[in-house]
Amino acid sequence: MTTAPHKGLSTRCIHEGEAKDAHGSPHTPVYNTTTFGFSSTSDLLDVVDGRREGALYTRYGLNPTIKALEAKLATLESAEAALAFASGMAAEAAVFLALGRRGVIVLGDAYGGTLELVGQQLPQLGIPGHLVLGNEPARLEQLVRGGVGVIFCETPTNPALEVFDIPALAKLAHTHGALLVVDNTFATPVNQQPLALGADLVVHSATKYLGGHSDLTAGAIMGSKAFMGAVWPWRKNLGTVPAPETAALLMRSLRTLVVRVRQQNESAAVVAQAMSKHPRVRRVLFPGLPDFPGHALAKAQMTGFGGMLSIELNATYEETARFVEHLRIFTMAPSLGGAESLVTQPVTTTHHGLSVENRVQRGISDSLVRLSIGLEDAQDLVEDLTQALEHK
Ligand code: PLP
Repeated sequence: MTTAPHKGLSTRCIHEGEAKDAHGSPHTPVYNTTTFGFSSTSDLLDVVDGRREGALYTRYGLNPTIKALEAKLATLESAEAALAFASGMAAEAAVFLALGRRGVIVLGDAYGGTLELVGQQLPQLGIPGHLVLGNEPARLEQLVRGGVGVIFCETPTNPALEVFDIPALAKLAHTHGALLVVDNTFATPVNQQPLALGADLVVHSATKYLGGHSDLTAGAIMGSKAFMGAVWPWRKNLGTVPAPETAALLMRSLRTLVVRVRQQNESAAVVAQAMSKHPRVRRVLFPGLPDFPGHALAKAQMTGFGGMLSIELNATYEETARFVEHLRIFTMAPSLGGAESLVTQPVTTTHHGLSVENRVQRGISDSLVRLSIGLEDAQDLVEDLTQALEHK
C-alpha cells in the first residue's frame, strides 16, 4: 500500500508499504523463505534483469517482507527509497564502501564503532578516514576542499548531544562535490528530517528508536533511488540484509514510533529540568534546555528535542560508577531508544576504546553519564535518579 505523501507521519508509519494479501491480513505477513519460484524462464529473467520488480532471493532483499519494510523506512524520512540492513554498522559500512572511497570525515562525536570503522579500519583498505571535531571548522573545510567523498555526522551527537547545522554542512559538502550523510538515530525522523534540510543520505541504527523495544538489531539508509542503487550491490554481496523475521518485527515497531518518541521527548525534558537543579549535577547536556549551547540550532532544525540526555556529575569515576549502580529503574546497558530507560557511563562502553586524550578532546569525562529515557512515568525516573544521586 502506498499512502499519499501529504498524509501525516503516524498514518504513513502505520499504512505505508503494507502488502495486503489474499486473506485480507491487515499487515504484511512474514515471508520467512529464502527463495521464490517462477513458472517460466522469461518471468525469472524479468526479475533478475530488473525489468520487473519481484521476489527472488532474500539475501538480495528481494523478499516481500523486506520490501514492505523498506517502503515504510523511506516514508519516515520522506525519501525516494530506503535499504534495510542487519545492523546500523552494516548500513554505515555499506555506505562508506559504496560512496566514500575518496575518503570519509566523521564530524564531532559519534558512536564508538563508527569512529573505529572510519579511523582504523577503512584506512586498512586504503580509504582515508578523518575524525574531525566540531570546533575544527578550518580543518573540515580543508579536507572537503581536498576531495573527500563523504561528510558523516550524528546530530545530536553521542553522548555529548552536540548539534550540527545540517543546511550549512550540506552546502559545504555540495560546493566541493562531497555528500552529507546524517546519522539520525538519536533524533529520529519524528524530531528531525535531515533530507529536507539538505543531507544526501540518512543512516539509522534501527536497533534503537525505530525498533524501540530493545529486542531487535537492524539498520537502515534512506535517500534517492540513485544512491540506493549504488549501495545495493554492496549490501547484496556483503550479505548484510536483515532476516525477514526481523524486518516484520521492525515494521511492527514502526507503527508506534510517533507516539513512543513524542512521549520520550516529553519525559526527557522533565528529567533534564529536574537534573539541572540538582547540586550533584555539574552539567546537563540536553538540546531542549534554553542554556544548552546547541539549543538555538536544535530549535531551528528539530521539531522535538529527543529522548537522550547526558549528565555530568560533580564526582570521581568511582563515585559515578556507584551512582549508576544504585539506579533501580534505569538498566545499566550500552544501548538506547527502548521502552526501558537505560543508563551508561560512556567511558566504560561506547567510548571505552578511545584514548584518554581523545576522550578529553571530545568532552567525554569519567563523570559523564548518558541516559536513554524510556516509557516509564517521568516522575518515577526523576525519583530514581534523585535517590541514586543522594546515596552515600
Ligand atoms: N549510530 C548510533 C548513533 C549508535 O548509537 C549506534 C549503536 O549504538 C550505531 C550507529 C550502530 O548501530 P548498531 O548497533 O545497530 O550496529
